[in-house]
Amino acid sequence: MRKAGRVVAEMHQAIREAVRPGVTTGELDRVARDVLGRRGATSNFLGYHGFPAVICASVNDEVIHGIPGDRELLEGDLVSIDCGAIVDGWHGDAAFTMGVGTTSDEDKRLVHVAEQALMAGMSVMHPGAHVGDIGAAIAAVVTAAGFGSPRDYCGHGIGRAMHEEPDVPNRGRRGKGPKLVAGGVLALEPMLIAGGRDDVTELDDGWTVVTADGSRAAHVEHTVLVTTRGPEILTKL
Ligand code: MG
Ligand code: MG
Repeated sequence: MRKAGRVVAEMHQAIREAVRPGVTTGELDRVARDVLGRRGATSNFLGYHGFPAVICASVNDEVIHGIPGDRELLEGDLVSIDCGAIVDGWHGDAAFTMGVGTTSDEDKRLVHVAEQALMAGMSVMHPGAHVGDIGAAIAAVVTAAGFGSPRDYCGHGIGRAMHEEPDVPNRGRRGKGPKLVAGGVLALEPMLIAGGRDDVTELDDGWTVVTADGSRAAHVEHTVLVTTRGPEILTKL
């Protein structure tokens, strides 16, 4: 899983370097495909319930599951990229959000709080802790900042499949939910809505989830291993 996570991190790095005004989300998908090919890895996104690409690219009010295509990124857009990789049958899955060109202070704050929420969720990942501890930690950061978070989408266990038990919600109660064990791996993925409400809707394409109020969204994710020495992020270089 470290190998798969590293490939995902390399995909992220290559995409970050390619993001600029004028690039299309389809071109970013090809950047990710190139990394997978170079590393001899395969995609766990392509073909997933029929998904047609190796990345999700969600722009501005799109929260998650945006389909890459001809859309050009514009100066001041906010783009979330989610992607994964399979190496030797083991899965990695991670997401980041970044501004395109010059980024507004509001968008910078949204991305910063999303990353802080992810760090807060990871910080409680010790053997014996509960999944509810993670959700509570994430939600505390998100709500304190005044942002919303969709209720119907969450993180997950990950291993031989991209999505395994348990669900890892972005809200929860401390001491509730399944217990974490050393060697277990979870994908944590806070999703933030700038407008402060939690409501989202799905577009007619059957995939793209957008904020109901039209405000911007951020989505960040890491695949994280539980160890007795603390959490280990697998999807980083
Ligand atoms: Mg995931
Ligand atoms: Mg993901």
